[in-house]
Amino acid sequence: MKHVSERTHHEMLNSHTTLRLGGPAAELVEASSADEIVAALRKADASGSATDNAAVSAFVLAGGSNVVVADEGYPGTVVLLRNRGFSVHREGERATVRVEAGQQWDELVEATVADGLAGLECLSGIPGSAGATPIQNVGAYGQEVAETITAIRVYDRYSGETLVMRPDECLFGYRTSIFKHNNRFVVLSVDFSLTVSTLSTPIRYAELARSLGVAPGEQADLARVREAVLALRAGKGMVLDPSDPDTWSVGSFFTNPVLPASEYAALRERAGAQPPAWPGADGSVKVSAAWLIERAGFGKGHAGVGVGISTKHTLALTNRGTGTTAALLDLAREIRDGVRDRFGVVLHPEPVLVNCAL
Ligand SMILES: Cc1cc2nc3c(=O)[nH]c(=O)nc-3n(C[C@H](O)[C@H](O)[C@H](O)COP(=O)(O)OP(=O)(O)OC[C@H]3O[C@@H](n4cnc5c(N)ncnc54)[C@H](O)[C@@H]3O)c2cc1C
Repeated sequence: MKHVSERTHHEMLNSHTTLRLGGPAAELVEASSADEIVAALRKADASGSATDNAAVSAFVLAGGSNVVVADEGYPGTVVLLRNRGFSVHREGERATVRVEAGQQWDELVEATVADGLAGLECLSGIPGSAGATPIQNVGAYGQEVAETITAIRVYDRYSGETLVMRPDECLFGYRTSIFKHNNRFVVLSVDFSLTVSTLSTPIRYAELARSLGVAPGEQADLARVREAVLALRAGKGMVLDPSDPDTWSVGSFFTNPVLPASEYAALRERAGAQPPAWPGADGSVKVSAAWLIERAGFGKGHAGVGVGISTKHTLALTNRGTGTTAALLDLAREIRDGVRDRFGVVLHPEPVLVNCAL
């Protein structure tokens, strides 16, 4: 691994993505502190334009678990975020955990659970870095990071300054925030406010509640919640396993579509069935993308060229070992178009597409 002062040229990005796909970066720089990240971006941005997404001078990559990188690679500088570590400050019933962006996420979750701090336990087993969690407001099993984030220290590539952003400035939503599809802000560290408790936050997700033997809304032992989440995730190929191609993915490739009530009614009519759905506070309805995909004829294991739908989870598009990004995107298009033709609903990709498009 190279540090900010040491740059490599034309290193393949497939060794830095969980899909194991992606061509070479024109330049790859590893930054192992916030200062090194800022220095690397300042240098790259001085030779390009950070304000123009089409002519990006540098791209930040952390765990590579939510990116689809073109077979042609990336024509600029890729800055690998490798600043690690976290600190915990307890004050009565609360604890503030400050974590460096490049810190491996699940190590943090494991440590907070072991330390008797509640708030992240349902997010066990998610690959990638802590600094990437605000980007798409990472969520699973009834928790999302927007519920516990209190502050984010960022480098603003437009102004060249570092600043602290509060949650209300981050525009958090379902798998989105101000940071997604926007290269302006680079997260340097994140503050989470957790509850000092050996009991979890109330369990909201029915499948998790069932597996813990509690009623939805009840709490459970923190460590048991982590174990249950890890077991559920492993059964779906949602915990990284180097020996299992079902996990060589970006997790869910498509987000669950959120439809206005009228479109949901039209969908039910067209489907002749009631798709699994979750009503939103604003009258909209979030519909299961997995259900739509399966009913449109794309089951688990559906294969493309060297790629395929996971045999364990309909939403995960995987590299079976000989795939290419072009083949993965062909498969994604086939599914998106099939769902649109069958149900009139357009699915949108969850990962960030780098130098490629769907
Ligand atoms: C098996 C598997 C299961 C998954 N399960 C879930 C899940 O349950 N829930 C969920 O929400 N996601 C899930 N994901 C997706 C992914 O793990 C998360 O989105 C994760 O937070 C991405 O982190 P990363 O460090 O790998 O980001 P990367 O893939 O390296 O980057 C993703 C995007 O964020 C940007 N980025 C990364 N770090 C920063 C930073 N510090 N500042 C600014 N921009 C940054 C990158 O430029 C890129 O655009 C899963 C992925 C896999 C492979």
